Parts: sequence; C-alpha cells; structure tokens
Amino acid sequence: MDAHDHHHDHTATAAPQTEAPPGYYETMETALRELLVEKKLIGAGEIRRQIEVLDSRTPALGAKVVARAWVDPDFRRRLLANGRTACEQDFGISFYDDTELIVLENTEKVHNLVVCTLCSCYPRPVLGLPPDWYKQKAYRARAVRDPRAVLAEFGTIIPDDVEIRVSDSTAVVRFLVLPRRPEGTENFSEEELTALVTRDSMIGVVPVQLQTGILS
Ligand code: FE
Repeated sequence: MDAHDHHHDHTATAAPQTEAPPGYYETMETALRELLVEKKLIGAGEIRRQIEVLDSRTPALGAKVVARAWVDPDFRRRLLANGRTACEQDFGISFYDDTELIVLENTEKVHNLVVCTLCSCYPRPVLGLPPDWYKQKAYRARAVRDPRAVLAEFGTIIPDDVEIRVSDSTAVVRFLVLPRRPEGTENFSEEELTALVTRDSMIGVVPVQLQTGILS
C-alpha cells in the first residue's frame, strides 16, 4: 500500500467551512439561546446537557429492548402494554421529551411500518436521531400511499397475505417496531440477538436478518 502524502495541509480545505458566516437559522438559534440565558429562563449549561442526552441515544438502546422482548415474555407483554414504562423500568431509559412510546409487534400476518407524514417525529429516546430518508417527503408521502412499493425499494418484499400497517407518528405519540425474531437464533444469547437488531428494522423497513454482512 502506498503511503499517503502527508506534506500537504489537511486543514487548509476544512478551515473556510468553519469560518463561514452564520446562516439564518444559526443566527436565530444564537439570538434565542442568549436571550433565554439572559432572562434566566435556562442556565448556560442546560442546552449543552440536553445535547449530551440526545447524543447518548442511539439504535443500540432500541436493539437491547427488542432482544429482551424476544427472550423475556413478561417484559414483552409489559412492553406492548406500555412501551415507555417498560423502557423506563427495565432499562432506565429516560423519556426527556414527554412522548408516549407504542411498540408495534410484527407477526406472521402483520408487518408494521413507522412514518411521520407531517415532519420527522421519531422515537428518539430509544433510537436517537432519525435517518435522512425518514425526514424526506418521498418517504413521508409514499409510506402511507404505497407502503408495499416503498418497502420493496428497501429490498423488503412483503407477501400479499401479510397486512401492512402504517403508523403515523405525532408530537406526543411515537412508535417502535418489534421485529420478528429470525429463525435459526433459538440458541442465541440476548447479547447475540441484540447485535442483529438494526435501526431500520425498528422503523419497519427491513426485517432482522441472521446474516448482516454486505455480501450475504
Ligand atoms: Fe413529526
């Protein structure tokens, strides 16, 4: 392997970007934040702490919840009855944003798909930030109108005798799909199962697969 030439300055191209004048929203955010702090409505560290909380949320959390539901019937029952309470009680996941969590179980006969037709509402406490495609109009509009075609574009073919249920998220009601446990995982530990669960499977656009490699 050829050594990469490190004589040129890597920062030269990156620097102008960070020095660019702030855009409209950046200016608005700064002005609003400074006003809130000045009027003592929030502390200076509060926004940073909140960002830290948001950044701590990733699909790894949701994956743990799903795997637990696969191995623990009592947890699964409680999760389906009240997603938020089960996540709070068993995993200590805080719901900082006052949203409800409804967990939708995929079965042999029902496949669930989650969307926010209005904007980008998403179960952030358990999945973190939504992927870009989730926020785009193409997905938001078509997931409701033609879910079978949208799923096919993700490589997911749902048999005709399986009902597709599309759930539209709101500011206060968020959904998480409990995907089906793949066949051949009967002897998997909870940890091994957790590793199989992907973000997209918890949105409902793909199933959980035993082979996750790109060439599988
Ligand atoms: Fe939304």
